[in-house]
Amino acid sequence: MEIIRAENLKHVYKTSTDEKVALDGLNFTIDEGEFVAIIGINGSGKSTLAKHFNALLLPSDGKIFVAGLDTADENNLWRIRENIGMVFQNPDNEIVAAVVEDDVAFGCENLGVPPDEIKRRIDFALDAVNMTEYKKFSPSKLSGGQKQRIAIAGVLAMRTKIIVFDEPTAMLDPVGRREILNTVQKLHAQGLTIIYITHFMEEAAVADRIFLMDGGKILRIGTPRRIFADVAAIKRLGLDVPIAVELADRLRRRGLKLPKNIFTDDEFVDTVKELKF
Ligand code: ADP
Ligand code: MG
Repeated sequence: MEIIRAENLKHVYKTSTDEKVALDGLNFTIDEGEFVAIIGINGSGKSTLAKHFNALLLPSDGKIFVAGLDTADENNLWRIRENIGMVFQNPDNEIVAAVVEDDVAFGCENLGVPPDEIKRRIDFALDAVNMTEYKKFSPSKLSGGQKQRIAIAGVLAMRTKIIVFDEPTAMLDPVGRREILNTVQKLHAQGLTIIYITHFMEEAAVADRIFLMDGGKILRIGTPRRIFADVAAIKRLGLDVPIAVELADRLRRRGLKLPKNIFTDDEFVDTVKELKF
């Protein structure tokens, strides 16, 4: 079932001297429970699109509907924010309280959720991100990946059905990146709708669909396997492909006859194992 729809969505940033078209007429739908990754080089419009999902920005033209609600109608604002949560790049900017459980509670308190219910939600949310044992900790003592999981718990505690992530792992080390991706995959498996902006292609590779952006447009929408199959096109845009796709492509260009459909690390290893030298 459809949960988000964009119709000719346009965003123009206006300054006193200049106009910048950041979103140039986007059309797409996202289904409930889908995991959509958004990729594209810096300046392609990803963050601008992210801010349209929860009405932080409003369309210059066209429309976007979240759970059937038109973001441009200000009467819808609260209901939209109840449905959709955001996780941004820098976890330090998202932590607001001195104790983990208070931080997780913050969004709920703003929504006016009763204290007993908030307690239950904190427990549920910390469990979902595997951070229960840190409930009484100071966030300042946590790693970047742990802080980011606390930020995700804060969104979960508001019981949103959709979470938008804008490069949540950009400031994390590989361990932190793994933690976040595992958490996101688990939430997806539990039925949440995930919109995940990333410049790590290995992360995009686990999504149901990828939106490939460039110059304020969505150039392509497809499964990761299809999107990354055209290695030359992806590279022309200044992006990379997942490592297995990259290695298979290089070997083919050196003359090895490899099947076309190599996408995962396992597929690469299994194919190379069978090669006769
Ligand atoms: P991405 O997240 O893909 O890097 P953004 O959505 O941040 O891209 O930016 C898209 C385009 O809009 C870029 O050209 C950027 O310079 C411009 N832009 C972003 N934010 C603003 C702003 N507040 N004012 C003017 N231009 C902006
Ligand atoms: Mg951005």
